[in-house]
Amino acid sequence: MQKYFSVLILLLTISFLTASNGNVEKDPPKKKKQFVVMIDPGHGGGDTGTPGTGRYKTTEKDVALDVSLALGKMLEKIPNVKVVYTRTRDTYPTLQQRAIVTNKKKADLFISIHCNAQPGRNGKKFGTTAYGSETFVLGLSKNKANLEVAKRENSVILLEDNYEETYGGFDPNSPESLISLILMQEEYLDQSIEIASYIQKEFKVTAKRKDRGVKQAGFWVLSKTYMPSVLVELGFLTHKKEEDFLNSKKGKKIMTQSLYNAIKKYISLHADTSSEIVINHEEQVTPRVYNGVTFKVQLSASSKKIPTKSYNFKGLKEISREKAGSIYRYFYGKTSDYEEIKRKKQEAIRKGYSDCYVVAYKKGKKVSLTEVLKQ
Ligand SMILES: [Zn+2]
Repeated sequence: MQKYFSVLILLLTISFLTASNGNVEKDPPKKKKQFVVMIDPGHGGGDTGTPGTGRYKTTEKDVALDVSLALGKMLEKIPNVKVVYTRTRDTYPTLQQRAIVTNKKKADLFISIHCNAQPGRNGKKFGTTAYGSETFVLGLSKNKANLEVAKRENSVILLEDNYEETYGGFDPNSPESLISLILMQEEYLDQSIEIASYIQKEFKVTAKRKDRGVKQAGFWVLSKTYMPSVLVELGFLTHKKEEDFLNSKKGKKIMTQSLYNAIKKYISLHADTSSEIVINHEEQVTPRVYNGVTFKVQLSASSKKIPTKSYNFKGLKEISREKAGSIYRYFYGKTSDYEEIKRKKQEAIRKGYSDCYVVAYKKGKKVSLTEVLKQ
């Protein structure tokens, strides 16, 4: 009996080995990483957002939802792009729920869509002169108008029960209260500004809107998402002409198209949708380890301090940064094995870093690669 089992196990082992061998020879299926866009239609349900001039039954929440859904439909058609929403109907997820679901879905980009309202003066409910489109990223603003927009968009928090508990003493009416929120998004600020500027350019060129620019202010919902995040104000519903435009089929269509163009451009520059590199086991070579030496691939040098995240480096991980004078150098990989760093260099070239090269370090100091290799 025992012998029978031994034979059986041996046979199973052989068939398993054969099967795994077959897998190595065949090219494994190439996986592509999805780029996830979270679209957040502002307000919803009991929170109508700005009612505009009052000439329409629809309010900010309706315009935001229409544009959001149309935008999602267009983006979904881009290969490897996945679209998720904080709401698809006339419901009100709290700002906290929106941030939680966005982080949970591991979105690569968060875009919150709103319409603007001009505050009134001298007892008037609203002003009627301001118009144009603007896009916000999280930041500090001393500008009163920007603070007003943030206050208005944050104020939905006050509609929620137990808001003090949920938002940790956050007071949407106090600028000081916003300051503490800023730091967490800082890591993504460069990318947020980048996508915001693409959006504003499209609004100006494609939709022919007045460009009110990329602005910074303290939006609660932007402060709690851990990816590049922007809040778009399509236009002013308190401005008659713009309200007509944003409520029209044509207006919504061109605003959607503008957002689509901008996001598509951003994705094409940031998505790691290239096929994953398949390592051919037969090509593996003997390591050439140089003790006490560290090899890296220098990718680029810049006066700008860029976060060492893979999405800033065409999907390459293991990025390090070094400051020399006023210049930052960016490296890929870190190893004592010269064969490994050569492979990493090839990988970087395939990703588009055609000018990258290998550098060598000894005790933290840069040394000549030629000298090292002579050893
Ligand atoms: Zn809003």
